[in-house]
Amino acid sequence: MTIRVAIIGAGPSGLAQLRAFQSAHAQGAEMPEVVCFEKQADWGGMWNYTWRTGLDEHGEPVHGSMYRYLWSNGPKECLEFADYSFDEHFGRPISSYPPREVLWDYIQGRVKKAGVRDYIRFNTAVKAVRFDQASRTFTVSAYDYSIGQGIEQVFDFVVVASGHFSTPHVPQFDGFERFSGRILHAHDFREAVEFKGKDVLIVGSSYSAEDIGSQCFKYGARSITSAYRTQPMGYKWPKGWEERPQLLRVEGELAFFADGSSKRVDAIILCTGYQHHFPFLPDELTLKTSNRLWPAGLYQGVVWEHNPQLIYLGMQDLWYSFNLFDAQAWFARDYMLGRIKLPQPAAMAADSAQWRAEELALQSTASMYEFQGRYIKHLIEQTDYPSFDIDAVNRIFLKWKSDKKQDIMGYRDKSYRSVITGTAAVPHHTRWLNALDDSLQEYLRETSGKGDLKTLRQH
Ligand SMILES: Cc1cc2nc3c(=O)[nH]c(=O)nc-3n(C[C@H](O)[C@H](O)[C@H](O)COP(=O)(O)OP(=O)(O)OC[C@H]3O[C@@H](n4cnc5c(N)ncnc54)[C@H](O)[C@@H]3O)c2cc1C
Repeated sequence: MTIRVAIIGAGPSGLAQLRAFQSAHAQGAEMPEVVCFEKQADWGGMWNYTWRTGLDEHGEPVHGSMYRYLWSNGPKECLEFADYSFDEHFGRPISSYPPREVLWDYIQGRVKKAGVRDYIRFNTAVKAVRFDQASRTFTVSAYDYSIGQGIEQVFDFVVVASGHFSTPHVPQFDGFERFSGRILHAHDFREAVEFKGKDVLIVGSSYSAEDIGSQCFKYGARSITSAYRTQPMGYKWPKGWEERPQLLRVEGELAFFADGSSKRVDAIILCTGYQHHFPFLPDELTLKTSNRLWPAGLYQGVVWEHNPQLIYLGMQDLWYSFNLFDAQAWFARDYMLGRIKLPQPAAMAADSAQWRAEELALQSTASMYEFQGRYIKHLIEQTDYPSFDIDAVNRIFLKWKSDKKQDIMGYRDKSYRSVITGTAAVPHHTRWLNALDDSLQEYLRETSGKGDLKTLRQH
């Protein structure tokens, strides 16, 4: 009997699942009855930029957390699809840190080629998933905004690929209610130019803090103050950027920090992370985890151990990204197609416990992406996903870390070599700090030789 599969989300993870099925189908396997539910009007998940914040045009929570002028924060050589290279897509070498629209274009290239768009039901938000023990099937309830109607459909498997960078974690600080400037979470940050000439306080010390602070600096903020809870980011910040310990409270326009100091600020951006949030799932099917490398309850990081007909993709803390989703999607595909058998529940739990123990023993940053690389390798060995040199990718991560340490405002000007094709990336025609136009068209324009665009800031 043909299996019925619901995929929730057409971001990179959900698209990886569609591509995995299509790839098996192209080699003779039966195509399952697949419906990919996507609440937005287009595919690409986070990479499909929206200017909206709060609620979308249908009154659904806005999924997008990406902002204008976002450039990849890691080398593209670390996320390249093993079955669809950057060379194949762009037909010529490009730089190692492309902007969002360029990566969105790349993501789309593979799935356009695979011809899987028709499996996606756009403008359709999944509202509830119920499991029936007797029939061992799921009923997915969704609302299709394009026809203005609720729908229900029965499936054998549900693949949750709804991402985990959409529901913000928003702490409260004393005095916020009387602060006269703007307070927002990173989820609602869209446009750095808004903060030109302003003194901006960034709360947090992770990727969003580093990148949103850098954006605001690049587009002309007067100063950046970033407040850390445990550890400063510790980069050599440019003049105008300082790190302070934990924000304690705000009085009027003054922010007070744990070292007793204070600073007047115009705006506060909370880069305080996201929650794994699955409002459409009942409690017993819900993954509850912080953002970490090995969330508990997922066999091979993918299969919900308490009900193996439920699959989660991309729920880990991400060092690797697109190629991690691929490795997971291929594994999930082969499991759903009956090519991979699951061990008994106790053995699954023991296997997961082993990975968790390894995760807990990790000491250094390098050991974290090595761990994730080992995990990807382990998945790939079980399927026909093209293998690639993961040790070489780990070496690129290592170089990336040291490039950032050396020059946090200049690391995106570095180039690496593809582990898939061997092609060396070419430097972008404009240094990142001066590249104010992040459009695909500007990115791909042939170098004019006239030098950088008009700059707001000089090195
Ligand atoms: C600001 C920011 C910057 C980032 N920068 C990078 C980067 O430089 N490099 C990198 O590799 N990664 C980056 N990431 C990580 C990024 O999340 C992943 O690259 C990738 O988008 C995750 O793919 P996903 O498919 O798992 O989730 P998402 O991309 O979040 O896609 C999930 C999809 O599910 C849909 N969905 C959610 N709920 C429902 C529902 N109830 N019904 C129907 N559809 C639903 C959403 O609309 C969305 O399309 C960044 C993330 C953020 C937030």
